[in-house]
Amino acid sequence: MVEDQLRARGILDRRVLDAMATVPRHEFMPIEQSPAAYEDRALPIGEWETISQPYIVALMTEAAGVHVGDRVLEVGTGLGYQAAVLAALGARVYTIERNAGLADEARRRLRRTGYGTAVEVIGGDGTDGYAAAAPYDAILVTAGAPRVPQTLLDQLAEGGRLVIPIGSRQVQQLHLLIKNSERVTDRVLEACQFVPLVGRQGWPKAAWPRFFG
Ligand code: SAH
Repeated sequence: MVEDQLRARGILDRRVLDAMATVPRHEFMPIEQSPAAYEDRALPIGEWETISQPYIVALMTEAAGVHVGDRVLEVGTGLGYQAAVLAALGARVYTIERNAGLADEARRRLRRTGYGTAVEVIGGDGTDGYAAAAPYDAILVTAGAPRVPQTLLDQLAEGGRLVIPIGSRQVQQLHLLIKNSERVTDRVLEACQFVPLVGRQGWPKAAWPRFFG
């Protein structure tokens, strides 16, 4: 996975490659998906949600420029894989998940794999960030947003990085925003496809399709 999918596609940060070689990705998905754990794609984790493709996790992690001791916020825990990769880089990680069942399961999996003390999983709407532990050196949003939530920019430290997919419910562009004293710079990294960020500063909850009644 690291050689063929990450390094071959231009992920060069040695520490990111090492972190992704260390974290057991198969522990962060339902057992029936684990034969495909190291394949080049996103996989279902239940509740209509997914674990992101390894390359996208690497790209976001590299862009976030995470160093040992950094305080990092993740919005959209899923089952906790990205949070574990951030912890493997030596960060103190706060991660928010709106689905309580996934949040509980992520806590269990992070504990089992040894990342339980470095990562705090918080239940709730992450579009409001998590003021209790702000400011953050980096914030990663792992669900697709219609626009940048101002609250997340407010919770970034000076020089902090926000990595966030912005676009429609179906397709987005991955943005890297850097907060400097006078202004925020914004760079597009590449196209991506995330599940929607649902919340006060995200998308409204989708209505069930008609055939569900
Ligand atoms: N980061 C995960 C993948 C997350 S998939 C990994 O490493 O595998 C996106 C997740 O975002 C889903 O679990 C979804 O429930 C969650 N999510 C969507 N909107 C959210 C919000 N407003 N706050 C917190 N979590 C949200």
